[in-house]
Amino acid sequence: MTEQNTNSPYRMRLPRPNYLPHNIEADIDDESIVQQYKPLGRPSRREEEAYIKKVRRFAEEYRITKPQGYNVSFHYNPAMEKHHFGQTHPMKPWRLTLTKSLVNAYGMNYAMDNYHPRAATFDELTTFHTKDYIDFLATVAPQPTPLDVDNPNPDLKFNLGGSDCPLFEGLYNYCSMSGGASLDAARKICNKQSDIAIAWGGGLHHAKKTEASGFCYVNDIVIAILQLLRVHARVLYIDIDVHHGDGVEEAFLSTDRVMTVSFHKYDPQVFFPGTGALEDNGPKNELNPGAHHAINVPLNDGITDEQYEWLFQTIISQVVAKFRPEAIALQCGADSLAGDRLGKFNLLVEGHGACVEYCKKLGIPMIMFGGGGYTPRNVARAWAYETAIAIGQHKNIPSEIPEHTSWRDRFRQTTLLPSIEEILGEPRTNKNTPKKLQDIVQHVSEQLRFVEQAPSVQYSIIPPDLGPIREEVEHRLREEAEEREENRRDREEGVGVRGEL
Ligand SMILES: [Zn+2]
Repeated sequence: MTEQNTNSPYRMRLPRPNYLPHNIEADIDDESIVQQYKPLGRPSRREEEAYIKKVRRFAEEYRITKPQGYNVSFHYNPAMEKHHFGQTHPMKPWRLTLTKSLVNAYGMNYAMDNYHPRAATFDELTTFHTKDYIDFLATVAPQPTPLDVDNPNPDLKFNLGGSDCPLFEGLYNYCSMSGGASLDAARKICNKQSDIAIAWGGGLHHAKKTEASGFCYVNDIVIAILQLLRVHARVLYIDIDVHHGDGVEEAFLSTDRVMTVSFHKYDPQVFFPGTGALEDNGPKNELNPGAHHAINVPLNDGITDEQYEWLFQTIISQVVAKFRPEAIALQCGADSLAGDRLGKFNLLVEGHGACVEYCKKLGIPMIMFGGGGYTPRNVARAWAYETAIAIGQHKNIPSEIPEHTSWRDRFRQTTLLPSIEEILGEPRTNKNTPKKLQDIVQHVSEQLRFVEQAPSVQYSIIPPDLGPIREEVEHRLREEAEEREENRRDREEGVGVRGEL
């Protein structure tokens, strides 16, 4: 037996469930066979022109134009699409191709600033990761067969080369492109060019400082949040992937400038990554500024749109009121959708999207990241619908997928919003009782009572390895703290005003 240190959820290394169930073959549907990337073949110029004309006509008909009063940007590197993790690996960059085909077919690009971001540099990747890890990632040779095949305990350096995180051809390029797009999104938020920045190629929330994990090698989210922290005093990270957002939580464990909130399936013995219990709320030591700044919402199979939306809105409204974030990083992992190859929830595109809509309505600058999602046609539906939410068009566009959409036959149903019956036949048994959801809300409310109303400067130390922060942010935090102090004094001088939170 391996001894576990109960104080730190991250020391739990055994028994750690593999991200991939090892009987994965049982789960493979017909699509996994056709999803291997093949060069798509370029359409002729005439075909391309005809397509663009149709899209333009569509965009005109439905008035898909830039939203009034705010700016949305789309950060996408098409070169990511051509990578593949291996024939049977569930992570299919092809889902990005499908997402792009829907976003384009609905003419949404006319409503956004579209960027083709460069790949992140070595220095940018090492704002979070260690140099020796990134060095290794950049130089290691591809391994055609995962090292844990026929060898249950292989010696995996940095957890690389097994079936979860295989060493595929072009791995480093793939990682730096994902990181580059998310970083570009963060920069556009920082310089106020965008109010909402979308990076569907990012959201790889499991990657650790010196370790790959759960299909994630480079934590583009952490790198992007570090960028946001240069100008934003507090960043709220929200994760609606079916897996716990452990990498991001761990990276910001000791700071009160980032609060992380993860909604996920929790079944520590069998479901990856095995962390994220309700009671895990950051460091146990109250003197650590990060105490109470990690919120975990552990769920069971079969949760419905109605329950999820209620939980999300109840919790996020309280978190926002207390923490007062200046920016939001929203990981929109689509493996929480019904019909996912790995996830087992009953969420529909509408329910998943309702979380995005709620965040958007808060009016706080936001990055929307991708994440997990292993049934590509449903991933594409969710991310296209959520792009439509970002530009305020989701109620306007027709749910029938436009005729001119590339790969339209790959969506199985021709609607953007299939019903639970269309996806699953029978919904999965819902194992989330109303009592359990009430208990979660109660626990979160109690945690939030410990959180200082917007952190004061003395509690806003950020660990040196989180990179430099600008003077102006420090200055602003100091001013805020002074202002709060004045307000407190005013309150205390008043008569009959409660001096507590
Ligand atoms: Zn996931």
